[in-house]
Amino acid sequence: MKVIIVGGVAGGASCAARLRRLDENAEIIMVERGPYVSYANCGLPYHVGGVIPKQSSLIVASEPFFKAAFNIDVRTNCEAVSVSPKLKTVELRDVKTGEVTTQTYDKLVLSPGAPSVHPPLPGIDLPGIFHVRTVPDVAAMRQWIEGGTSFLAGMYNYSGIQMVKPTRRAVVVGGGFIGLEMAENLIHIGFEVTLIQKQPQLLSPIDPEIAALAEGHVARHGVHLVLNDGVTGFAQREGGSLEVQTISGAKFAADIVILAIGVRPDTKLARTAGLEIGQRGGIRVDEHMRTSDPDIFAVGDAVEVKDFVTGHWNLVALAGPANRQGRIAADVIAGRDSKYRGTQGTAIIGLFGGAVAWTGVSEKMLKRIGDTDYEKIYLFPNSHAGYYPGAKMLGLKVIFRKSNGLVLGAQALGVDGPAVDKRISAIAIAIQMGATIYDLEEAELCYAPQFGSAKDAVNFAGMVAADVLQGDMPLAHWDSTNGALLLDVREPVELVVESMPGAVNIPMGQLRSRLAELPRDREIHVICRSAQRAYYATRILLQNGFNAKNLSGGMLARAMFKLGTKERELTIVS
Ligand SMILES: Cc1cc2nc3c(=O)[nH]c(=O)nc-3n(C[C@H](O)[C@H](O)[C@H](O)COP(=O)(O)OP(=O)(O)OC[C@H]3O[C@@H](n4cnc5c(N)ncnc54)[C@H](O)[C@@H]3O)c2cc1C
Repeated sequence: MKVIIVGGVAGGASCAARLRRLDENAEIIMVERGPYVSYANCGLPYHVGGVIPKQSSLIVASEPFFKAAFNIDVRTNCEAVSVSPKLKTVELRDVKTGEVTTQTYDKLVLSPGAPSVHPPLPGIDLPGIFHVRTVPDVAAMRQWIEGGTSFLAGMYNYSGIQMVKPTRRAVVVGGGFIGLEMAENLIHIGFEVTLIQKQPQLLSPIDPEIAALAEGHVARHGVHLVLNDGVTGFAQREGGSLEVQTISGAKFAADIVILAIGVRPDTKLARTAGLEIGQRGGIRVDEHMRTSDPDIFAVGDAVEVKDFVTGHWNLVALAGPANRQGRIAADVIAGRDSKYRGTQGTAIIGLFGGAVAWTGVSEKMLKRIGDTDYEKIYLFPNSHAGYYPGAKMLGLKVIFRKSNGLVLGAQALGVDGPAVDKRISAIAIAIQMGATIYDLEEAELCYAPQFGSAKDAVNFAGMVAADVLQGDMPLAHWDSTNGALLLDVREPVELVVESMPGAVNIPMGQLRSRLAELPRDREIHVICRSAQRAYYATRILLQNGFNAKNLSGGMLARAMFKLGTKERELTIVS
């Protein structure tokens, strides 16, 4: 059997190596347009920031390694330009010489990825404007940064007047995870960074109130955020620096511009083969990663995937799914019945020591598809036992089915990145196993005081959600408090920090003796700092015949909704 694999990075390389492990006799050719295979795109921003100093560290496995370890014929600088499913041939072009040759195949695997979006804006091809996709991209970027603009170099060398190296300015266009990682790394090497994002929030997969915390966090670390404003063009300024122009009419000077405005599935080759393209613009595959041609498979960023929770077709460009899909395609080619379960979109991004992570469906996605059978909770548990030094607060949102408690999605953030990772990874597995919030209650996770709590944040989420579903804790949210009496059960000293206009303050400890002060004919929404004392108070009120609800997440969640808090003042609280 002769198998040709197009694309030699995440999906392609995984497929090639797995196939060899399953079939020692197959002839495997892996072609890659660029100069490297199996490189770590996820590490590229950190090479720019010097965190990964050596470029060679980014190359996970080289051409000779593939030959020696797997007997795979790797051809770099080799582009597949067209496919004929009828003749079962691929035309390959040598990128250096332009020579085109034809190869036959029994099975073909496409893993061409998703190139960065490059809109036809004026000036977009000016020197100093970069994408972040490949090793050569970041090599060129580093060279540019080291060289500086001639304007800056001149200033620096103008001895006697310019004693201090002038500030270097970067504009990052796009507030997804690549844009944010680039912003952090550029700050790390001394740039003043402006990040321009067309949408009103960063990190579009998560809900806006969680993104608001991330926005506050990156702003506090020096990223100048410009939300709700798109870039309209670029111009060259005198001295070699650039100007970035936006819809609002703003102009930003930059010594380097990073474009991170998203990716689009590479379907060029698939179209030459007449393969079916889905409604989201990716290559359509079945659960075996087979395209509309039974001998052609496709994996990775180029394909449409079924959303694990909603069942809708989706585009998700992540390394984990690409690797798993590559393996599944290899399994199927080798005669096994492996199936892809769909993509949950589980992801994490490190942000200045902290992290934001998410899995499953977001609330805004549920709203978009008109799914109203859900409830959400906000919690602010500690990263580990509060009595052990170093505990940091996490912000956690969990979304679940109102009708049966199925866990649908979760988003978390905090300054303790590994603690965020642990909770979202645990919930990701729960979602994949079809768990309910009652399963989260019972989940048995690792515990010692420096790592977690006997009642872990994940258990805690399950318990709170179960209280809601079982009617023990009716819930209200900050975006739906209209007309209710607000009862604040915090201590008076806490109100000095922030209080709610019009709220009645009865500290938790006095509530039982002051019930007569509260109305029985009006809904009461109970608040405290994080909703824990408000839960105790809600239970007292309910058992005394009041119509009470706990305001989920308390004053901490209110801050996330940007109610009464100046934008950018928010942070991932510790
Ligand atoms: C800067 C950056 C950071 C990232 N960080 C993360 C992260 O932290 N976590 C995460 O989960 N994901 C991350 N990703 C996404 C992840 O890298 C991708 O989802 C994954 O690499 C997709 O694998 P793929 O095989 O589909 O495509 P790719 O890995 O992009 O590989 C496709 C390859 O195919 C080649 N190719 C395309 N067409 C042809 C052709 N016609 N002939 C020959 N070769 C061709 C391309 O040159 C390319 O090298 C990051 C991506 C980038 C760019």
